[in-house]
Amino acid sequence: MTARLQRTLKRAVRLQDMSVISSDDLIRVDADGYQEIRRSATRARNEGQPAFVCDHCGFAVYAPREPKTRLPFWRHHKGAPRSCPWWTGEPGSTDDVSASQFQGAQESPLHLRVKHLVAELLAADPRTEPGSVVVDEYVMCGESRRRPDVRAIYDGKPIAIEIQLATTQIPIIVAREDFYQREERHLIWLTWNFVPVERAHLLTAFEDIFYSHNKNLFSLDDEVVSESRERGAFLVRAFWEHGSGWNSKITTLADLEWPSSGLPYAVAPPPPWHREFRARWLAATTAQGTPWPARKELFSELAKKLDDDSIDASTLEESDIAALLNAILSFVEGNPVGSAQRNLTEVINTFLASERRFRFARIMRKVIAVTGVPEILDKPSVVAKFSRATEDAQSGPDSHAGRVALLLFPELFEKRQLTR
Ligand SMILES: [Zn+2]
Repeated sequence: MTARLQRTLKRAVRLQDMSVISSDDLIRVDADGYQEIRRSATRARNEGQPAFVCDHCGFAVYAPREPKTRLPFWRHHKGAPRSCPWWTGEPGSTDDVSASQFQGAQESPLHLRVKHLVAELLAADPRTEPGSVVVDEYVMCGESRRRPDVRAIYDGKPIAIEIQLATTQIPIIVAREDFYQREERHLIWLTWNFVPVERAHLLTAFEDIFYSHNKNLFSLDDEVVSESRERGAFLVRAFWEHGSGWNSKITTLADLEWPSSGLPYAVAPPPPWHREFRARWLAATTAQGTPWPARKELFSELAKKLDDDSIDASTLEESDIAALLNAILSFVEGNPVGSAQRNLTEVINTFLASERRFRFARIMRKVIAVTGVPEILDKPSVVAKFSRATEDAQSGPDSHAGRVALLLFPELFEKRQLTR
């Protein structure tokens, strides 16, 4: 069976950007960050292309949770060289639960019961297209096929419902989500009688589908079933936990949010502070710039978030942060922000026309490279501007400008976001 975990895999490398993530970094990552690593490692593995590798032997690794402590750790995938000094033993079947094993397996009587209950309730719902409810039949998409527990056309949308009773593994969860996405069918993970527990104690299988549904979880229970029958509508109980304990409500599927990509949800998590701040900054900004009273107020809030007594609104003002923010936002938004320029090439050329902003050139080069318009960097006028500007000393990640950029645009500087 599974060898005991004897050694620690100390460092992994994320191939996408070659950043090194130590086992300590991994433990410090917050729940959202961990889930991102977990999913990207799984998705890459499903596609036969590793995302994270051992820093020693270069073999693919993944990041399961240690069952007792629930702390994530790096582990080699099956087949890693035993000669690696960080060899962690051969993983057991948790790693490579094959789809065939699942499709061929006998399901539990509860799974069977819930599946038919869902089919019955869906069929009785007038929003369901008559005759469209199908249990356990294959859906084909290109070369691959899946057999959803229940599928139907509901409210004009093709849907698939998969019952999750604490058993489905992340490789299968991710593979199904990708399959139905390609097939343009909306997937709903549904569990039975979910009992809210502290997030730290949430079963990993539930945590995975919780993230799938934009941090919502859907469940059926006796009460929901009888109310469904009374109302003649398919109902689910939606749970969400956005940092302040669990909430729940009974809802129809039609009342959910159905994003064009990704799975439906009942209640969206509040946007993170940096997104909200950016929205307020944008709202206060016109082609003439960001006017002072509003700018001062926003700067005071930003300064507080930087958590550094030596920084206040006037420090940020003196560092020309308003111009930097508007320049970055122009590229993030895809159109000039806080300036009367006609296009992004003019934005960057005007921005770098001022000597006091030369030190922001490195930050701006990164921004332009990752916001989808890197060809702007090849324009002769822009090349000349950057070439002159980068002769000066550049603001690094610890400068005021660098810290503001990382705080407000973590997605543009992903490597640092991981261990924030
Ligand atoms: Zn290794």
